[in-house]
Amino acid sequence: MVTRRKFIEFAGIGISLAARRGDGKGRTADEALQDLIAGNQRFAKGQVSAPRRRPDDFRALAEAQYPEAVIVSCADSRVAPEILFDVGVGDIFVIRVAGNIIGGAGATVKGSIEYAIAELNTPLVVVLGHSACGAVKSAIQHIDAKDKLPGSIEGLVELVKPAVSRSRGTPGDPLENAIRANVQLGVERLRGLEPILAPRVKKGTLKIAGGVYDLKTGLVTLL
Ligand SMILES: [Zn+2]
Repeated sequence: MVTRRKFIEFAGIGISLAARRGDGKGRTADEALQDLIAGNQRFAKGQVSAPRRRPDDFRALAEAQYPEAVIVSCADSRVAPEILFDVGVGDIFVIRVAGNIIGGAGATVKGSIEYAIAELNTPLVVVLGHSACGAVKSAIQHIDAKDKLPGSIEGLVELVKPAVSRSRGTPGDPLENAIRANVQLGVERLRGLEPILAPRVKKGTLKIAGGVYDLKTGLVTLL
């Protein structure tokens, strides 16, 4: 049998290795996760390949997209998924919202994730928290506060509070614990999210992973 990879090798000429990786079709969750981890290690070492950013790469994807993973990350300016995973155009479907909130985030966040799973058949979702997250810090500071934060910041921080409550009293650094708990809550929420994600997780065709990005080392640690 000629595998897809072999076929592309045979077809060879003109199809670069880089172009092949922009196509997540047929990729398993584990392959996608390995790809992201390898890219993050290159990034942390300062050995990025900055793939698929040239006209030939984006033109090849103009008609359709086959991202290998959905990344739900914080909006923080230092946590740019394409950069820290050293991937290119078409590789990842990114949803960024302060505090990488999923529970209570509503149709815009959940619907975006579901679209990538149902319509694009993306096999992997990574909920990505990060060290020193301002949204989680605020939730810790305001968990017992009687005062209100301005505008919609109050509502946003409110959504992170369950993670703070869950991690309270556990040994270690309270902020780091709450950041991890916030990712874990997001992962749990997505694993049980009916009707699109949960059945696929049960069948094993979709994987939901959680990770925390360290602003100092540049490394993502999977939970
Ligand atoms: Zn953050």
